[in-house]
Amino acid sequence: MKKIALEEHFIVPALEDRLIEGMPAVTPDAQRQLVDLLSDLGERRLAAMDEAGIELSVLSISGPGVQAEPDAARAVRLAREANDLLAEGVARHPTRYRGFAHLAMQDVAAASAELERCVRDLSFVGAMVNGHTHGIYLDNPCYDPFWDVLQQLDVPLYMHPEDSLILPHVLQAAPELRKATWEWNMEMSAHFLRLVFAGVFDRFPRLKIVLGHMGETLPYVLWRLDSRAELITGKRPLAMKPSDYLKRNLYVTTSGQCDDVPLIAAISALGVGHVLFSVDYPYEESAIAGRFLDQAAIAPDVREKVARLNAIRLMNLDL
Ligand code: MN
Repeated sequence: MKKIALEEHFIVPALEDRLIEGMPAVTPDAQRQLVDLLSDLGERRLAAMDEAGIELSVLSISGPGVQAEPDAARAVRLAREANDLLAEGVARHPTRYRGFAHLAMQDVAAASAELERCVRDLSFVGAMVNGHTHGIYLDNPCYDPFWDVLQQLDVPLYMHPEDSLILPHVLQAAPELRKATWEWNMEMSAHFLRLVFAGVFDRFPRLKIVLGHMGETLPYVLWRLDSRAELITGKRPLAMKPSDYLKRNLYVTTSGQCDDVPLIAAISALGVGHVLFSVDYPYEESAIAGRFLDQAAIAPDVREKVARLNAIRLMNLDL
């Protein structure tokens, strides 16, 4: 079945150092190979897409990117350059690629303006943000102008995990749990819930947030979120139950999770319109991800929604 994939990474030379700093402890050879695959928007990537039946990949800078940059002005400049390079890559294969904007969240006004430029002038279909920016999470009220622009443009924001600012005690002396194994689930699901409980979705009800990795465990805990949130004293007022925001504002992708159990849980918890296919290229195998969706124990009409129809609707794609 033809597919559209949303968490497909690439890298530009100016951001390679940040990428390598943030990589898990792999051999120098494996590191070089990843950078090589990330840099390529030609034959090899297209062949991997073909193998998985992916007609269109939405490309994004592999994190942490400019958000790790201490100098905000430099971050703003590097983000703009990365987006221009991505737009050139997309233009070379306009039927196979789209782009997510890379944004310097250190400067809210600049990030909002760059998002607008990317969507209006470069035809990007949304943005990807890599977790917190020097410890500032997206529920901080300083981001309200950014949410306003995102909502007006009617494009999704893909929230991609990033390392914790300070390693939680429970993860110390447990190197196996770092990063994608478990750290990022904790970090990213909590980051999203900060938006819910800070009332961001009451102020901006039409926001569309995408999480990878089948929703970073969130589709599994809706009932418990509602039941426990009931009991909290001194909480900030919300217009709806926590789960209502997840069902309305959250979309999840299958990136890095090739398993029917979380797929069926996500569809059942969030609704069939809120689950989309992705690979997480080149960190995951496109062929395995493609085969997983082709063979998953779901109805044919559900499979087509997950594979491509939901993506077309979420990003208003003109194919
Ligand atoms: Mn990823």
